[in-house]
Amino acid sequence: MIKYNLKCKKCKNIFDSWFSSSNEFDRLKKLKLLNCEKCKSLNVEKSLMSPQVINRSKNIRLNDDSKKTKLLKKKLKEYQNFIKTNFEYVGNNFAYEARSIHYNKKKSKGIYGKASIEDVKNLRDEGIETETIPWIEDKEN
Ligand SMILES: [Zn+2]
Repeated sequence: MIKYNLKCKKCKNIFDSWFSSSNEFDRLKKLKLLNCEKCKSLNVEKSLMSPQVINRSKNIRLNDDSKKTKLLKKKLKEYQNFIKTNFEYVGNNFAYEARSIHYNKKKSKGIYGKASIEDVKNLRDEGIETETIPWIEDKEN
């Protein structure tokens, strides 16, 4: 599942929506099935994706072999690959980069990286939305 920030060009409403894949947005838009949740306008576009914080501290343990765990792991991997493709890795500079995007609007690409809980809290206080995602290390494959 992929979450996009969507923006209505008509009423400027910004809302989140989940899609099963990165192509689904385009597909739904083409079919005119995508509209603003507020004014129902079809003039909806993807806006800048929220910066993503890699959450290693809450590293989820996915060691059992149950079907459910495997499926979850697969979904997380898909999401992770999507982030790797579409976002720029900024490592420990996350808080700095997130601010510079927010205040200067200079990047068109989303970012992902590491940040402390404190950083995330401060960013949110400044009105900078971030998403925290669990991250599966490659060695856990
Ligand atoms: Zn609207």
